[in-house]
Amino acid sequence: MPTTRDYYETLGVERAADADEVKRAYRRLAMKYHPDRNPDDPEAEAKFKELAEAYEVLSDDNRRKMYDRHGHAGLRGAGAAGHDFSRMNVDDIFSMFTDIFGGGFGQAAPGARRSVARGYDLETEVTLALADVLEGCERQVEFTRLDVCDECTGSGARRGTAPITCPTCGGNGRVQQQGLGGMFRMVTACPSCRGRGRIVKELCEACRGKGRVPKKRTLSVKIPRGISSGQAVRIQGEGEPPPAESSPTGAGVRGDLHVVIRVKDHELFQREGDHLVLEMPISFSQAALGADVQIPTLNGRAELTIPRGTQHGAIFRLNGKGLPGLRTPRRGDLVVAIRIEIPRKLNARQEDLLRSFAKTEDHDVLPVSHGFWKKIKDLIGS
Ligand SMILES: [Zn+2]
Ligand SMILES: [Zn+2]
Repeated sequence: MPTTRDYYETLGVERAADADEVKRAYRRLAMKYHPDRNPDDPEAEAKFKELAEAYEVLSDDNRRKMYDRHGHAGLRGAGAAGHDFSRMNVDDIFSMFTDIFGGGFGQAAPGARRSVARGYDLETEVTLALADVLEGCERQVEFTRLDVCDECTGSGARRGTAPITCPTCGGNGRVQQQGLGGMFRMVTACPSCRGRGRIVKELCEACRGKGRVPKKRTLSVKIPRGISSGQAVRIQGEGEPPPAESSPTGAGVRGDLHVVIRVKDHELFQREGDHLVLEMPISFSQAALGADVQIPTLNGRAELTIPRGTQHGAIFRLNGKGLPGLRTPRRGDLVVAIRIEIPRKLNARQEDLLRSFAKTEDHDVLPVSHGFWKKIKDLIGS
């Protein structure tokens, strides 16, 4: 049965997510929950199928609009529901979306020979503190990828035996089927050998005939300074070897590993590109009299001279105290936005002083206030 769970929730994206975010979320989760990576885990398989269903809808503009407006019922009512993934074979689902995973025989430059098998790309996520962006950093990332089974060197056959050529497809791996009462033909993976072209009589125990086993890998990844949330560091050749169907021994080109960066929000600084914005509270008297104040920077302190008569909301820029660019070491600015804090409590002496001060105040002397009262007089004409 198709799921009734919210598709956005399934993919873990906002309702406003663009096509790229939807695709990326699907790719990451589908690789994570692929049953080959989670042997004997029916929950992972169910999750994998749920993801495919959510992606099929959210990656299609029309279906997505229909879903946004009327939910699951809207899709079924309009006949826009897609495949019933819960009843489909995992390998078929995976091959439906190969363009996303970057594997198989694709991804060759146009005109180039497409005969080199290529493995799937993988994606993993790393979370950084804003301060890590300043100098760049190195992180250990651990991920699981399918790798060639050492026991059978990828053939899937028990040690000492070899696979035979599939009699159904003659080793081709593909068969033609009639669709919709003969209205069209489609080429699908051979059901007898599941597209492999070979049949393994006695399965390798280590991989149960798949030729691939999940293996953990840890890598040290250099993350360049100036990187932003959502950007990725690509590590060539650290993805998976070509799938067993196209290259049992794993000969060919490995996919890539994409390390997607998340930068945590900072308590004090907001990032605007290469600039940092700091809201700096100062007192009313500092603003009126002027003051030298210490302000925090990402990796220390700086001094800022606040001139006499500084107004609430005034902006000061400290050149070069922001973040470096990804392509240039030149740093952005630290933008300091002044917030004047009015005391909520006064002791007796402060109150006396302030009342005496208030008596000396002449509204006409303050230029902004002067203009304000003049405008009011003009408006009401008195
Ligand atoms: Zn094996
Ligand atoms: Zn076959």
